[in-house]
Amino acid sequence: MDMGSGFMATLHYCSFYICAALLGVSCLCYTLIQGRTARRQNQLYILLLLNLIFCAASLTVVAFFEGVPGPGARLVADTARFASLVFHGSLAPMFGYYVLLVCGNAWQFSYRGIALYTLPFLLTELLILLNPLTGWVYYYNDAFQYCRSWGVYSLYVSASFYLLLGLLNLFRFWRAVTGAKRNALIFFIALVVIGLLVQIAWPGIQIELFTNALAALGLMLSIEDEDDRIDMATGAYNRRALAFDLKNFIETGQVFQVIGVRITDMVSVHRVMGSSASDAFLRSVADYLRTLLPPYCIYYANPSTYIILIRGDDETRAAEIAATILDRFDETWKGGKVESLLHAAVTQGSAPKNFPTRADVLFMADSPIPVKEEKKVLAGRDLGYLLRRLEVERALHRGLEERTFEVYYQPVYEMPSLKMRSAEALLRLHDRVLGNIPPAEFIPAAEQAGIIERLGDFVLEEVCAFIASGVPEEVELTDIGVNLSVLQCIQPGFAARMKAIVARYGVNPSKINFEITESVAANDYNALDAVIRDLKAEGFTFAMDDYGTGYSNMQSIFSLDFDLVKIDKGILWSAEKNAIGRAILDNSVRMIREMRRKILVEGVETEEQIKLLAKLSVDFLQGFYFSKPVPKDEFIALARAQHEESHAIMVQGASS
Ligand code: C2E
Ligand code: CA
Ligand code: CA
Repeated sequence: MDMGSGFMATLHYCSFYICAALLGVSCLCYTLIQGRTARRQNQLYILLLLNLIFCAASLTVVAFFEGVPGPGARLVADTARFASLVFHGSLAPMFGYYVLLVCGNAWQFSYRGIALYTLPFLLTELLILLNPLTGWVYYYNDAFQYCRSWGVYSLYVSASFYLLLGLLNLFRFWRAVTGAKRNALIFFIALVVIGLLVQIAWPGIQIELFTNALAALGLMLSIEDEDDRIDMATGAYNRRALAFDLKNFIETGQVFQVIGVRITDMVSVHRVMGSSASDAFLRSVADYLRTLLPPYCIYYANPSTYIILIRGDDETRAAEIAATILDRFDETWKGGKVESLLHAAVTQGSAPKNFPTRADVLFMADSPIPVKEEKKVLAGRDLGYLLRRLEVERALHRGLEERTFEVYYQPVYEMPSLKMRSAEALLRLHDRVLGNIPPAEFIPAAEQAGIIERLGDFVLEEVCAFIASGVPEEVELTDIGVNLSVLQCIQPGFAARMKAIVARYGVNPSKINFEITESVAANDYNALDAVIRDLKAEGFTFAMDDYGTGYSNMQSIFSLDFDLVKIDKGILWSAEKNAIGRAILDNSVRMIREMRRKILVEGVETEEQIKLLAKLSVDFLQGFYFSKPVPKDEFIALARAQHEESHAIMVQGASS
């Protein structure tokens, strides 16, 4: 055999090593170019690649020098063989640990756990390190040929142990890992196992390192790749990543700190300065946060909120960071060419103590934050508002399941006869845990939780069933008022659903009077206008609720085609107190009259108020003076009694 063909044969023999090394180097370069170096998982991955490359390279050296005679070549071959084994022994434990990191539970090992985990690794390494003295793992025979001893199998045993452990761990925290990552890990373990088996069965095929490198490539593409987790505009992790990581942390029972940074004026910044400026402001806040914390802690949860997650139980440090962030908002921020102050509300708490579930953290990110006068991080007891809202949200779901929602009715009286003419349907929630929850509390929570439509449908169905029962007609009510949340009205398909419900109960739409609150109506009156027109064409009537509570654009409000305006109780109550209040009431009534809308005054509690209102030309009254909202049966009894009474008076009047 000449030199050239010997070289070629060796090269051929090593081709799998060379491929493995090339693959490893490519993955390494790519990982470094992408800058995926911040997290422990990333660092371990890089170490893994280096280890792989080193093993492959040293085995190549072995192949080239083993056949060469002479003590120098032998020394090189022997050393390279030894080194490759030392490093090879740590490959599987590293893979195993990597799986632990990806599953997210590598953080809570006890010392005993660590000792157990590292034992097979330490034993194999000890065997390898002692090999120059013992020859238990391999030896060279007299012809300087490489021979395996029994110790080689400890390498395989150790590798199997770590792969099995990784697999078990994956199953144990199955739900903490996303589907794609799971599949990638399973594929990766399978590939490594196949490589291992082939290597054991046919020692001549040097495929094991190559399958490892292939597996590493798969990991890089599927697990190390974070493109789908990053919000392009801010460079922070996106909401999806937040949801995944929260799930992972919570499923694996970790303790972690949560800081919420809500930029409270983001909406107005967006409106006044435009989207490119507001994006730039958001970016500078993210850049600032990255000076305080590693980038992988920062999540962009919604257009005005960053959430920071810090592993571990160091609440003091989290509190310090939160305070530092809040202080930073005393200074201006750069938004492209402009510079401006931004206002922020900073919240801080610990999971699972303050936030037992993923929903709690997301809820904190999304729910309105109570406005605090003093400059202060909201932590500990200040987070009570979240608990209550959460409790209410749970109660809402319970209410839907256990059917503990009930519609009450409050009568409405006509002026000047003071006959009952109508009623307003008001929703009640009797919760077995929280007791009775006022609608002012659960309606906004239902809007936020996305179940307001179901509540709205429920109320309309109840009211339709009531009308279909014939009682309202019997006591001569013209209609029943049903409250609508604006959020609910502007959902697509809303009008069609309302029509379908009344049709199902065979109720004439004119028997339903929808009430919409003035202040909210102003925000989206274009969309609202279309819905109102549509439903009015069908026969429904509309009332503007709570007139006088919002300082909204009068013109747009009155461009909406309301039949009735309900003047808020506040206006009545202050009319009693002073001349200004009186002037507001008088003028409101006059103005609404001029616009040819009917007028109802709410919150009538006393006889004096009725006298005061009698002098103005209002059409209807509603209030505790007549009746509080009451359950349906009670309402029916009241309505029948009053109807008979007025009937009797009429009969009396006719006969006398
Ligand atoms: P609203 O539509 O302004 O309803 C009138 C509220 O004033 C009712 O409170 C009623 O109990 C109360 N009220 C009536 N007369 C008097 C009075 O003389 N004095 C005083 N102090 N209060 C009086 P309630 O039932 O707690 O409802 C609060 C709000 O919750 C309602 O205000 C309405 O905006 C909302 N709401 C209630 N039911 C529903 C519903 O089915 N759907 C929607 N979207 N909102 C609802
Ligand atoms: Ca109302
Ligand atoms: Ca009202």
